[in-house]
Amino acid sequence: MIKKYGSKKYTSGNKNEQAKRIKYIFIFSVLLIFLVYIFALVLSHVTGKGKNTAQVTANTGPVEVIKDYIEPNEYSRPQKKLKKVNGIVIHYTANPGSDAEANRNYFNNLMYENAGKEKPVYASSHYVIGLDGQIVQCIPLDEIAYASNERNSDTISIECCHADNTGKFNDATYNSLVRLVAWLCGEYNLKKDDIIRHYDVTGKNCPKYYVKHEKKWNSFKDDVFRYIDNHKTDNNIIKAKD
Ligand SMILES: [Zn+2]
Repeated sequence: MIKKYGSKKYTSGNKNEQAKRIKYIFIFSVLLIFLVYIFALVLSHVTGKGKNTAQVTANTGPVEVIKDYIEPNEYSRPQKKLKKVNGIVIHYTANPGSDAEANRNYFNNLMYENAGKEKPVYASSHYVIGLDGQIVQCIPLDEIAYASNERNSDTISIECCHADNTGKFNDATYNSLVRLVAWLCGEYNLKKDDIIRHYDVTGKNCPKYYVKHEKKWNSFKDDVFRYIDNHKTDNNIIKAKD
């Protein structure tokens, strides 16, 4: 009996120790996970600043600018210097369902497409924003693009992809556009009136939906400046450029 009791006691003492050990392991694990998390957070902050790709810190997480410059050529990347930026011109691709990379490749391939043509096409854009909100940069910001006629020489151009004939930007495209324009306004010290449509330069029906719906155009500009106000202290929106 005594032996049995003793062995029982021994067993329960062992259980206590085991429970203690599990408790320590649990506390240690939680602490470790927390430290790893803090370390990762610090690391991503530090490396994010040195990255070559531009990053936008936004409500829905970071958005990267994919730099995929088109090859220098006379029809879409003449490498003329963009000396001063006085505005941003918004466009739509007028090619429903086409995505950012396809439009970038179209600009890039004009040098081949134009071969033998009597009237060659001159076209390009600094940025194309795709249907998933991806931002593809086709031309460095210190060079001009062929997008906005007489304002090519002092503006940055953004082409937006759209799903259908209405020309309306979907939420992903729209949100990336807001963030990109917000960042550019900060970089070049631009005001609300400096954000214009292709329509405002030449009267062309571009970007179609925002020519037809003036209110939507104005609320887009409000969204940009609301975004800037909300992210003023974030040290800010895109973290790296060329
Ligand atoms: Zn246009």
